[in-house]
Amino acid sequence: MSNLSGYELQKRENALRLSIIDSKKVAKNTYEIRFDLKENSFRFATGQYIHVTLPRLTDHDPRGNARDFSISSSPNDKFLAITIRGSDSAFKKTLISGKTKAYITGPFGIFTLPEDPIRPVILIAGGVGITPFMSMMKYATEESLPHNIKLLYTNKDGEGMPYTDILESLQKENKNIKIKKYFPQITANDIKKELPNKEAIFYISGNPAMVYNVQTILESLKISQKWINVELFSGYKEYEKNTESEFQIKPPEHKLAQRSLPDLEALLQALSNSAIVSETNAAGTITFANDKFVEIAKYTRQELIGQNHRILKSGEHSNAYYENMWSTISRGRIWRGVLKNKAKDGTFYWVDSSIAPILGKDGKPVKYISVRFLVSERQQAEEALRESVRQQNVLTILSQEALANTDLHSLFNRTVDLLKKTLNIDLSAVLKLLPGGKSLVYETGTGFNRAEKGKTLVPAENSYSMAGFTLMNNVPTVVTDLTTETRFAGSNLLHDANAVSGVCAVIHGTENPYGILQVYSTKKRMFSGVEIGFIQSVANLLANAVRNQLDKRKDEFLGIASHEIKTPLTSIKTFTQLLDRHAKKINDETAQLFLVKIDQQINKMIDLITDLLDISRINSGKLDFHDETFKIDEIANEAANLVQLITNKHKIILENNVKHEIYGDKTRLGQVLINLLTNAVKYSPGSEKIIVKTYEDGDRAIISVEDFGIGIPENEKDLIFGRFYKGNGRNKHIPGGLGLGLYISSEIIKRHKGKIWVESSEGKGSKFYFSLPLKK
Ligand code: ADP
Repeated sequence: MSNLSGYELQKRENALRLSIIDSKKVAKNTYEIRFDLKENSFRFATGQYIHVTLPRLTDHDPRGNARDFSISSSPNDKFLAITIRGSDSAFKKTLISGKTKAYITGPFGIFTLPEDPIRPVILIAGGVGITPFMSMMKYATEESLPHNIKLLYTNKDGEGMPYTDILESLQKENKNIKIKKYFPQITANDIKKELPNKEAIFYISGNPAMVYNVQTILESLKISQKWINVELFSGYKEYEKNTESEFQIKPPEHKLAQRSLPDLEALLQALSNSAIVSETNAAGTITFANDKFVEIAKYTRQELIGQNHRILKSGEHSNAYYENMWSTISRGRIWRGVLKNKAKDGTFYWVDSSIAPILGKDGKPVKYISVRFLVSERQQAEEALRESVRQQNVLTILSQEALANTDLHSLFNRTVDLLKKTLNIDLSAVLKLLPGGKSLVYETGTGFNRAEKGKTLVPAENSYSMAGFTLMNNVPTVVTDLTTETRFAGSNLLHDANAVSGVCAVIHGTENPYGILQVYSTKKRMFSGVEIGFIQSVANLLANAVRNQLDKRKDEFLGIASHEIKTPLTSIKTFTQLLDRHAKKINDETAQLFLVKIDQQINKMIDLITDLLDISRINSGKLDFHDETFKIDEIANEAANLVQLITNKHKIILENNVKHEIYGDKTRLGQVLINLLTNAVKYSPGSEKIIVKTYEDGDRAIISVEDFGIGIPENEKDLIFGRFYKGNGRNKHIPGGLGLGLYISSEIIKRHKGKIWVESSEGKGSKFYFSLPLKK
């Protein structure tokens, strides 16, 4: 709209004078114009736009010598690019010819990539509306930003679609970018198909009809306005004909700006109850303030009228933010944004503001109407949500790394790095408690420049250090200012790194704690309850990883050890058999007696070793199964007969009632039953019978083994199925095994898609059950 000459403009608005280095065709009738930035440090964010004034046009242009254009280049580029559709207008012809200087002001607009990369970004572009998105996507790719970007790109046809080749290569280079194209337009169904399951943030850019259409579609898909960003692109001929300004307001707002004044009065009245409404003249002096404004700002109406909105400035926003607002509204456009304001009593409040200019006949603003809604609670809730999402992400990444078998050291490194980033602190470390418990050693960390990995020690025993204090109390310790702390002095590690505020959490171990996870900031800082909880969660995750790693080593050891023992044991057994034969030959009865005993002991050892081998096979997923179809009676009979041989005190009573067959590993399932039966014998020394029943229940076979022995206390019922669990000392007098039988059994049953459980009452006896799917 400005018809100022270049010189006037440069003087008045501090415009940059740039020359065109390139004007190239990027699609049918579409050109990219590049301005040379030379040493000019023109800073902008992706998605912003500039105001371009050409000092001399080749011909008269009724719409003047200035237009707004979105920027298509990346902030990293040495040039500034815009994209335009060709037209007959003298302005565009001059621009495309490249033979002109241009005066640039800006950047303007807040149509930029979200700061928070967690929400998926959906860009919906129509034709040359792709421009701001080009800038966004190029920048995201160059900077390896984590944003997940999906571009839904629509155009009348493929020919007139700008940048298809560049988009293709962006998509190849950046796996976070997905591009879909639609001709001749995009429908509700198309968009619906592309909605991610997470709440996305939308950007729409294209001609007014396209933007309006897409907006209506999104509304019908119940997408909240607050996640939709809109920018109108105006390079369209039809549109140019009908409108006075190249950069226009979307239809509904457009209507608002042109409402007649009495209408507006009524509208303001209607808004009065919920919104903060004010009106200023063209110079920004407040001429109207509604009751809500008076109530929230805590000034009287008299104090407000005649003032400038500056009296509400909180100091939160940069000058550029306000400048951007002013240049937007003084150009006749609506500005929307969130502002932090200060009330008369010094308290702060956040408002979501829309400021609309009311244009006079000459197209210049005569006054401004501002409508604001309080957002402090919403904003806070959103901030809290974002924080917890960030923390959740860290926990997810770390658990994945822990599962992916990364060694502990790289897991710790990753942890301190992620903590530093998410909590916005400068120091974090993992300390490991040394055997003996007297000191902790610095395992890894970030920011502790004077500490040496594996060497720097921190006292752990007394409450001299914060880590020691934390270990002693076994709950997270929080310190807000180490210099005034009285509970402990703080270790050299902390003082050398100038730590001020921080949190220490215990990394638990199996018997003794593994160590300490610590997080500090060199500036005074408060840690919220949520943050402290988060730090402890990370410590727990590390504890789990440490435990798994130990278990893994134990398993590997077991696997190797039991294998090595089993081999000589088998040959010992062969030799005893040979000796036994020899003893029989020479009729040495004493030797025969001893050899029977030796053989029994060897068998017992072989059983134990077999269990150990099974365990290491289970853990490495190598326990093999040979499945066949058979009747459960067969294993019930065999197991009952076998176990009956080893006891003469108990009578095993068997009741078989399963008609259908099952499919599984007969030997392994027999092993389960033998195991339950030997336990029943072992743990019911004073009783006389054991009852085994097999029956059908729907599509499952159930097998139960009931004894009348010592029973199992309620709180141990789940524990007994764990590895190496041998009861809480209550059955010390009974020589048991290694505490592996039930664990192996439950793994075998699990593999057969069955269940195993126990009913028991202490002192009266136990009834173990397992169920298996029937083959019907
Ligand atoms: P083990 O018998 O070698 O100790 P198991 O895994 O077979 O190992 O059993 C684990 C623990 O469960 C036993 O130590 C015992 O405390 C308890 N338990 C198993 N079966 C019975 C039972 N029938 N009655 C009472 N306690 C039992």
